[in-house]
Amino acid sequence: MDFQFTPEQMALRKEFEDFFRDEMQKAPPLGAENIYDNDEAWDFHCYLARRLGEKGWISRPWPKAYGGQEAPILEQLLFNEVKAYHRAPGIDIQGVCMLAPTLLASGNEEQKQQHLPPIARGEMMWCQGWSEPNAGSDLASLTTRAVRQGDHYVINGQKTWTSGAHRAQWCFMMARTDPNQTRHRGLSFFLVDMKTPGLKLRPVLGLNGTHMFNEMFFDDVRVPAVNLVGEENRGWYVSLMTMNFERSSIGFMAEAKRNLEELIQFCRETKRNGQLLADNPAVRSILAQLVIEVEVGIALSYRVAWLQGKVDEKGMEMAIQAAVVASAGKVYGSELGQRLSYAGCRILGLYSQVKADSKWAPLKGRFESSYQECVSLNMGGGTSEIMRNVIALRGLDMPKGA
Ligand SMILES: Cc1cc2nc3c(=O)[nH]c(=O)nc-3n(C[C@H](O)[C@H](O)[C@H](O)COP(=O)(O)OP(=O)(O)OC[C@H]3O[C@@H](n4cnc5c(N)ncnc54)[C@H](O)[C@@H]3O)c2cc1C
Repeated sequence: MDFQFTPEQMALRKEFEDFFRDEMQKAPPLGAENIYDNDEAWDFHCYLARRLGEKGWISRPWPKAYGGQEAPILEQLLFNEVKAYHRAPGIDIQGVCMLAPTLLASGNEEQKQQHLPPIARGEMMWCQGWSEPNAGSDLASLTTRAVRQGDHYVINGQKTWTSGAHRAQWCFMMARTDPNQTRHRGLSFFLVDMKTPGLKLRPVLGLNGTHMFNEMFFDDVRVPAVNLVGEENRGWYVSLMTMNFERSSIGFMAEAKRNLEELIQFCRETKRNGQLLADNPAVRSILAQLVIEVEVGIALSYRVAWLQGKVDEKGMEMAIQAAVVASAGKVYGSELGQRLSYAGCRILGLYSQVKADSKWAPLKGRFESSYQECVSLNMGGGTSEIMRNVIALRGLDMPKGA
């Protein structure tokens, strides 16, 4: 394992750095993080997506045949690290990171030609309709039904926790096409235009009042059969590709690094009871511990990307090892984000509760919102318990348990 970046990779990193530093000067004053909730942040996200599209950076990892550059995983890691450090939006996670790899692997030519170019140009935003009120970790128990009628499927059911559905133009979703087959086998994978009649949304507000999630109701939604990805009843296997993107969790680590740097700077400049926070031994100890944890997290992410980069050469065994370390990275990164949010609030004291739009909010109220948002970090994209199951089963070869 050698984490020395080549001169070419360092040059590329600088190009990303320069780009995001310049572009983030144009971000809305209160930040661009809450893209689904805030119109200004959403407009900036769409602007930046188009800029990234012009540079060809959205489709960098794709095959050349579809406008990509076949960029190696480590380069993608550098891109994601720099982007997250700058808190830059502009990448539609669902469209770019989940659907595009799925279509590249399982879509037919027509689907690729229709959907990949608008994603690459940063023009089309997607949402992911998987979870249901009674199907989250155990996704194979989902009950939304799709019934074939001529050249359409008619979909009925409910999805929930659908991030950004109120902003998205399209949704990829899974529905049960054969209730008589065992769980994983009767599912199919569909692409649904969000304007299709019968599809209704209801907002689900977060703890901090922001609108990111939605419930999605399908009431006789007619989806053209050409929007089925892969074969009918084989959707589970198509969906496995959806999670098969660069999953190093570097975004968690880079974001934590930036937040921690700003917290440290605040402690250097702020006095409590006549003493700089940075001179307080208890504060110093908390910050030092977090610096160690962030460095460990970054090294872990690099290791995931390095392992993923070896999969083509070394095959299945390396793929399993990469998946196990990626699960460890997800647990570590999401729990690090939580520890940092809690520690930041302890250090900022009562001011940590002041919201971003107040002049009294330290660090733009970032810890106020992250304290509430971080609760969900170890749920989205697979819970920490499920990740630990993967580590136990695949990494430690432990028995499946009851
Ligand atoms: C920020 C965020 C964004 C999301 N965005 C989307 C989205 O865009 N689209 C979408 O479809 N979904 C989305 N989700 C939903 C997410 O996929 C689910 O929350 C997740 O799969 C967990 O499912 P659940 O909430 O139903 O919890 P459950 O699966 O009911 O789990 C409840 C608890 O039981 C534990 N548990 C469950 N099974 C096991 C097991 N086998 N072993 C040990 N423990 C177990 C879990 O870890 C958890 O602690 C999002 C969630 C979050 C937090």
